[in-house]
Amino acid sequence: MKILSVNCGSSSLKFKMYEMPEEEVLISGLFERIGEKASEYTIKLNGEKYSKEVELPNHKIAFEILVDELKKNNIIKKLDEIKGVGHRIVQGGDYFDKTVIASDDVVAKIDELATLAPLHNKAAITGINAAKEVIPNATETVVFDTAFHQTIEPVNFLYAVPYEWYTDYKVRKYGAHGTSHKYIASRLNALLGRTNTKLITCHIGSGASVSAIKDGVCIDTSMGLTPNAGLIMGTRCGDVDTSILTYMMQKKDISPKEMDTILNKKSGLLGISGVSNDSRDIEEGIAKGNERCVLAQKMYVGKIIDYIAMYYFELGGVDAIAFSAGVGENSIRTRMDIMEGLKVLGIVPDVDANNSRGEEKLITTNDSKVPVYVIPTDEELMIARDTYNLCN
Ligand code: ADP
Repeated sequence: MKILSVNCGSSSLKFKMYEMPEEEVLISGLFERIGEKASEYTIKLNGEKYSKEVELPNHKIAFEILVDELKKNNIIKKLDEIKGVGHRIVQGGDYFDKTVIASDDVVAKIDELATLAPLHNKAAITGINAAKEVIPNATETVVFDTAFHQTIEPVNFLYAVPYEWYTDYKVRKYGAHGTSHKYIASRLNALLGRTNTKLITCHIGSGASVSAIKDGVCIDTSMGLTPNAGLIMGTRCGDVDTSILTYMMQKKDISPKEMDTILNKKSGLLGISGVSNDSRDIEEGIAKGNERCVLAQKMYVGKIIDYIAMYYFELGGVDAIAFSAGVGENSIRTRMDIMEGLKVLGIVPDVDANNSRGEEKLITTNDSKVPVYVIPTDEELMIARDTYNLCN
């Protein structure tokens, strides 16, 4: 059965098509700058890659070209061979604790929740509607980044602000990257050979979050009402003293919108280093002796260690820790810095094993009290699995 896994941004459409249940990737690609100038798309097939510049006025045209490419490359002969289309949705609020079919009622709720994730949820709805028009007979599903975190209890999801903010305005922790944390946890359980486990999963890419997972169920996560909570990220500040906001808004006459942009786009590694939001540039800066890059890396790593320590206590121990996403899968240095900071847990890094990128791997020695793994995440596969299950 052919299943399309889709992630729509406001000007992009990323896709992967799977043969299920074999979980074989048939083709993948990315449409960029939809609705803008110089739009183009890239297709990956059989290890080869090709790009084309083409006008992409909207997501519907992108889906039409996608279907043409599927036919041209003999992935499908007829449109009806696409049985399911699964969409990634960033914010599902407390309405959704699992993947569901994209009915009109569900889409209306995603729209209602757009106040919490304006860019993402609106773009996803555009994608859902476009896919429904272009591939009308497929089962459309929506897979929420927040769903896996819906098991978190009030003691961990509430903020110590007036309770009415929660009851009247739904102010609480929702988390993000849930699909990724769920995937990493399922891989860790497979590697450990059991499901009664205490796991700490670190999804560290441009956006970054840590989750505490007990017996396959999420009990806490570092992102909050929005993704700008918890860890220091590429351009996001993560946890800060909230009074800094009002202080600086008064000092520099900054509007709420501007403040939101500063905290989300000009902070984090970029804000501290003044060099870049990208870990590779920070590492290059460190090699050149740039003190602010050294500081940015220390702060970045320190925050991850803080959360791992906190979740170690929340879980009452830990059976395995995993690193994933752009930094977690690729930054040898960041992983080593974090493991060094966790020595008190009896973690013993395997320097040779850690010296690789993008592979699922144990990176601690046999005498390490806690095994640490690199687990390349696969959110698209999770979307395809859930969609396949709902199609059945
Ligand atoms: P997102 O999906 O949130 O855009 P990714 O998970 O793709 O982010 O992570 C992107 C980040 O991964 C980059 O900003 C960069 O900091 C980091 N990264 C990628 N490759 C490397 C590498 N070889 N060394 C260090 N960091 C890397």
